Amino acid sequence: ASSLLSRHRTFKVLMIGDSGVGKTCLTHRLCAGQFPCRAEATIGVDFRERTVEIDGEKIKLQLWDTAGQERFRKSMVQHYYRNVHAVLFIYDVTCPECRQNSLGQDIPRFLVGNKSDLRVPTRADHQVNQQTAISFAKSHGMMFFETSAKIPPNRLSKIEDIVLTVAGKL
Ligand code: GDP
Ligand code: MG
Repeated sequence: ASSLLSRHRTFKVLMIGDSGVGKTCLTHRLCAGQFPCRAEATIGVDFRERTVEIDGEKIKLQLWDTAGQERFRKSMVQHYYRNVHAVLFIYDVTCPECRQNSLGQDIPRFLVGNKSDLRVPTRADHQVNQQTAISFAKSHGMMFFETSAKIPPNRLSKIEDIVLTVAGKL
C-alpha cells in the first residue's frame, strides 16, 4: 500500500542547442549513460528518462533530445515545445558562435556549457568565457552550469548537480 502513496510525477525537459554541441551525449550522461554515445545523428526527437528523489518525492525527468528542428515544419517544432517544464540550452564552450533562443520565458531555464574537457588555457580567446556566460545567464534569468559529457560523472563534471538542480526547480 505504501507504494501506492508514493508520488511519481513526470516532467518534460527539452535539450536545445546547435548541432554538434553535445546534446545527445549529455542526455545520455544525465540519464547515467556512457560516453561515447552512439555515433549516429539524432533524427527528429528522442527522449531518455532519469528518476531522482527530491525531499522524499520521486521525480521522473524526461529529457527530450532534439535535433534538426529547423528542418521540420513549424507544427512539428511546436509539438516538441508543448507541455515543457524546463529547458536546457546547451552550447559548446570551444565554439563562441552560439545562437540565442528565447524559448520558455515562463519555465525554469538552464544555460549549460558543454565540452569543458576541451578547454585549453592558452586558447582562451577561442573559447566561450565562463564569466561572460554566467553574466548572460543571470541577465536572462537562467541558471548556469559548465560540464562535460565526456569525463566520468564526478564533482568536476557536475552531472549530478545538474540533474538535482533541474529536478529541484520543478
Ligand atoms: P548533438 O548534435 O548536439 O546531439 O551532439 P552529439 O551529442 O552528437 O556530439 C557531437 C560530437 O561532440 C560527438 O563527436 C561527441 O563525441 C562530441 N562530444 C559531445 N560531448 C562532448 C564533451 O563533453 N567533450 C568532448 N570532448 N566531446 C564531446
Ligand atoms: Mg544529437
